[in-house]
Amino acid sequence: MVRDIDIVLRPEEQNDDGRRRAVSVKLSVSSDDIAHMTILRKSIDARRKDIKINERIRVYIGEDPAVENPVIFPYVGASPAAVVVGAGPAGLFAALTLIENGIRPIVLERGKDVHSRRMDTALLSQKGILDPESNYAFGEGGAGAYSDGKLYTRSVKRGDVGRILRLFVQHGADESILYDSHPHIGSDRLPGIIENIRRTITASGGEVRFSSRVTGLIRSGDEVKGACLESGEEIAGPVILAAGHSAKDVYSFLLKDGFALEAKSTAVGVRLEQPQSLIDSIQYHAVGKRSSFLPPASYSFKTQVNGRGVYSFCMCPGGSVVPASTEEGLLVINGMSPASRRGRWANSGMITEIRKEEIDGDDPFRVMRYIESIERSSFIPGFIAPAERMTDFCFDRPSGTLAESTYRPGLKASRLDDILPPVVVSSLRAGFLAFSDMTRGRFLTADGTVIAAETRTSSPVRILRDDSMHQGRGLYPAGEGAGYAGGIVSAAIDGSEAALSLRRDFNG
Ligand SMILES: Cc1cc2nc3c(=O)[nH]c(=O)nc-3n(C[C@H](O)[C@H](O)[C@H](O)COP(=O)(O)OP(=O)(O)OC[C@H]3O[C@@H](n4cnc5c(N)ncnc54)[C@H](O)[C@@H]3O)c2cc1C
Repeated sequence: MVRDIDIVLRPEEQNDDGRRRAVSVKLSVSSDDIAHMTILRKSIDARRKDIKINERIRVYIGEDPAVENPVIFPYVGASPAAVVVGAGPAGLFAALTLIENGIRPIVLERGKDVHSRRMDTALLSQKGILDPESNYAFGEGGAGAYSDGKLYTRSVKRGDVGRILRLFVQHGADESILYDSHPHIGSDRLPGIIENIRRTITASGGEVRFSSRVTGLIRSGDEVKGACLESGEEIAGPVILAAGHSAKDVYSFLLKDGFALEAKSTAVGVRLEQPQSLIDSIQYHAVGKRSSFLPPASYSFKTQVNGRGVYSFCMCPGGSVVPASTEEGLLVINGMSPASRRGRWANSGMITEIRKEEIDGDDPFRVMRYIESIERSSFIPGFIAPAERMTDFCFDRPSGTLAESTYRPGLKASRLDDILPPVVVSSLRAGFLAFSDMTRGRFLTADGTVIAAETRTSSPVRILRDDSMHQGRGLYPAGEGAGYAGGIVSAAIDGSEAALSLRRDFNG
């Protein structure tokens, strides 16, 4: 017999014995009769002091579960080829899906492999030296490679989230991502998983080529027939374009070559860094240290200020703030955290909506230019970031000193009013005060640091496509840079769907 049941555990009961006891009581069966239990869903209910763990369990009584077979990737070395631009989540999952469907992917990535890339991100963090082709946004694994690896997405309707998570597990991710309500992998584990995905692609006869920047598309009439590399080499095949939202050169050549693009609304703001112990004490209603049975706490805030959304974004418990710039002279901040999330600091993007209609002009790059102007005014040589204490930012006064921070290039006490647009400053101030009210005043603290600027939260440009994900024949814009996805899982789903659309065109 197989039954799906819901159980409630105390934090210290989250182990096989605790679960077995709860299941046997709930089903009135002896613990010895339970052949196997699979956790289907797990969440923490921290609304009250008495914290509970809610789990949905598939219980096998007197029978074993069927063995789940991994996806088998066929050999496609002699099959027709398709070009995939970009080895981020959209490009990598597009490549896996092409292989599953008998098409040979040739993945072209401007940056380096995920291992070599690590040296470049270290050089940027430690010495403030940027490699414009290999950084936190460019290189194998894309923008997600050194992220928190949060795999939470709202795009349930748009594709098979479970399939993406299972493929991550098949390539080395922990099985807990299949049931945690807020799954995450961690910046220390993601690179190994990305390398395994690359091995699957190459072992199946696909190609992954690094330091291969695409500078244009080959066209015959309305049909895209391939991609041109910086070296002049031409790679033939229909093109899945998954270049991410920082590839401004790609947007430029598309516009120059007459492809249809439009401006897209986005959200901008700052990264807020606070002690993790503060977040734990707010979320777990605790005094003193967090229980060792509970994970570092996270939060998600949102409010409206004068009809404009203000919200927290990409919260990284126990993480660090990193320089995610791709160009000298422009500062971009982001956050990441390792699998354990054991760091002393928590950070999150705190952002507010910017609608494309608010920005003068009607050209497709106007939101991109708006973002760029914030990044330019935030820039301090060496990728030092301007910052203020949270209380000083909210009460409009300068910070004489700053709290400790994980941001390695360093912070400089600055007035963020002089850097960010007035509407962003006023919305964030009101938002912080609202979030503070939601936590009985505890969220607003002097040891919180507000760091500018968080600007690359989503693509500022959309590459138009029809319902079958084409723009003309042979071009499939996909992932975050195309303006149809945001985050690792939704980009991976979008890339997979582009590959399926390409397969339908191949067959039909
Ligand atoms: C520090 C950080 C932390 C993040 N944390 C999370 C998180 O925890 N959870 C989450 O869901 N999302 C997170 N994100 C966002 C997430 O990484 C992106 O949403 C996701 O990677 C988008 O996937 P993509 O494949 O569409 O584009 P990208 O990941 O941007 O990949 C695009 C790829 O294309 C390559 N490329 C660009 N131009 C060219 C060209 N001309 N020729 C060849 N190759 C090119 C780039 O080098 C890059 O590798 C984070 C991002 C950053 C920067």
